[in-house]
Amino acid sequence: MDLLTRNNTVTQEQIDRLWETAKVEVTTAYDKCTVMTVKLENGFILSASSACVDPANYDPELGAQICRRKIEDKLWELEGYCLQKQLFEERAAAQNDMTAEREGAILEAAIETWGERAQIGMAVEEMSELTKALCKYLRFQNGDLDCDAAALLRCAVLEEMADVGIMLNQMALIFGDPTEQEIYKLERLEQRINRDKKGEE
Ligand SMILES: [Mg+2]
Repeated sequence: MDLLTRNNTVTQEQIDRLWETAKVEVTTAYDKCTVMTVKLENGFILSASSACVDPANYDPELGAQICRRKIEDKLWELEGYCLQKQLFEERAAAQNDMTAEREGAILEAAIETWGERAQIGMAVEEMSELTKALCKYLRFQNGDLDCDAAALLRCAVLEEMADVGIMLNQMALIFGDPTEQEIYKLERLEQRINRDKKGEE
């Protein structure tokens, strides 16, 4: 599942499930303070308290509600941290796992499985998908997009860049290593930059 479609979020159901399986103890201290202790199924303990000034105004039910809200807030934060950490570790593991040797074997297997002709066609297809993602990014860049929508467009460009990168590496296996041409073109680019810079002075 890719990063865009995976549901990377903590949900209310998740928090509710933690409550359902937790052991909750509620006590009153000094006739005006509710103390709630929650032991989660995994053994982790959270606590919260809520007090009023005058014992005459003390409402244990209200105290318990406030404590539960405080503990729920902590749970959201803890579950969020846990998910973020898990995603970070998954990505790091995936990156470390992908050695150059393994990458080469996968690319070769793709060509062997579907054939050169199909993979060349796929390269064209992926390049057009990147073109579309870049055009979309440029089209909406100056509009009034919210942060989430802008992040999605950037994410879409990154995904298509990855697809094109993979296809270009397969093209290198089919047509040969273009490093020589790349160096020549980079040097030519450098000369053009220097020439244009001098022209500006
Ligand atoms: Mg694609």
